[in-house]
Amino acid sequence: MYKMNPPAVFAHESVMKNRKYRAGVERLVKALVEPRQIETYTDDQLPMLIKERQLLKNRVPMGTLSEVKDPILLFNTFRFKDEAAARARGKKLKDADIDVRGELLGLNAFNWSNYNLDGDPDRMHKVCRPCWRIHLQAGCLHRCMYCGLGGLLVSMVNVDEYCLHLKKLMDLHPWQKTYLLDDDADPPGLEPELGCLGELIEFFGTLKDRYLIIHTKTWNTDWLRNLKHNGNTIIVWSLSGPTQSRKIEPNAGTTEERIEAAHIAEEAGYPIRYKFKPIIPVRNWRREAAETIDLAFSKTHPDVISICCFMWMNVDEMKKRLAPVIDLLDPEFLKKAEENRGKAENPKTQPFPDDVRTEIYSHYLSEIRKHDKSIPVSLSTESWQMWTQFAKKMGMTATDYVCGCGPQAVPGLKKLECHPFTTAVRNDGGQIPCVTPPYKL
Ligand code: SF4
Repeated sequence: MYKMNPPAVFAHESVMKNRKYRAGVERLVKALVEPRQIETYTDDQLPMLIKERQLLKNRVPMGTLSEVKDPILLFNTFRFKDEAAARARGKKLKDADIDVRGELLGLNAFNWSNYNLDGDPDRMHKVCRPCWRIHLQAGCLHRCMYCGLGGLLVSMVNVDEYCLHLKKLMDLHPWQKTYLLDDDADPPGLEPELGCLGELIEFFGTLKDRYLIIHTKTWNTDWLRNLKHNGNTIIVWSLSGPTQSRKIEPNAGTTEERIEAAHIAEEAGYPIRYKFKPIIPVRNWRREAAETIDLAFSKTHPDVISICCFMWMNVDEMKKRLAPVIDLLDPEFLKKAEENRGKAENPKTQPFPDDVRTEIYSHYLSEIRKHDKSIPVSLSTESWQMWTQFAKKMGMTATDYVCGCGPQAVPGLKKLECHPFTTAVRNDGGQIPCVTPPYKL
């Protein structure tokens, strides 16, 4: 487990009343740097925790804080049996102007992401596939400066019950083969003490042709060795060069540690992948990219690599979040991002303009191809336009590429076998209407 010193540890009464859940939390608390008392709370005390104990105070981009501490730890259970009551509680808090999140109410175990379907506000701006996403945690220990998921780490611990519901969801959606866990957390940090992630991995190990995807920047994989995973958990490392990993993602594994962790996982039989995401162009980005790719291929055998520049915000927001390290950035690219201010047609791909991102992707692709001529390389969360530009070089299109965490991206696949939008089927069994991409592919 990570070394950590949280300012407080809270556990909902439903956690402490269950011997197995309580044992996991107690094991974890024993391993903290300094002893902490577990503060048990009830639903009625949640408003007090949010207001007086300021649970959500530091949920802001960590680069904007003068000091970043380990997050408060909070353990909770999903309320599968009394979801209506949990929703009513949430409404009451919202009506009283109290900011609350689904995980604090015991909600949102699984959520439908309607990417590129009607109702997706970003539909015209990025390629991504509609799918179910699954959650056990919200919050993170890694302190990436650009990220706002510090301050509070909520972990849901009723994994036994969770797996029963997840199985029902999977049976309703046979078209979805892979399930990305926690796109708003980095789950290995509390393991193996907490004992939740291993239980989920072993549940997937009992399934046929269904895969769990863990997306992480961790160094912590030694404990995964002896689990009965059956090759059904894919671990995707978000990989960055030495400067970015050390200075901008300070509590995550370094470049070398992430690759070593991937090596350990591969040795233990887990399929592994890399995402260079987000790529922050630091001064020596070309050399660091080449060296990182060299190291990754010298130690491991990923089946897919995805690449994605730092995006999703304008240049001023990026400068605010990266203020303490802004001098590390490539000055020419920073200038181009500034010149791009207010001009980007696509709000999602800001702050770096298309020509900067094209140069970065071309470099990564050519460095990867020096090591492997056929591994699928995809653009992650990019625009339709960028995909049109790179389709020939990639040998895949926006509608058939294989990526790190797409719902059909099973291990070893070279290209999707069916259209990712038309294969998705709604809960009620109705086919989701085919979506015409906004660009010709
Ligand atoms: S690893 Fe991911 S979730 Fe954790 S702080 Fe970094 S960006 Fe945020």
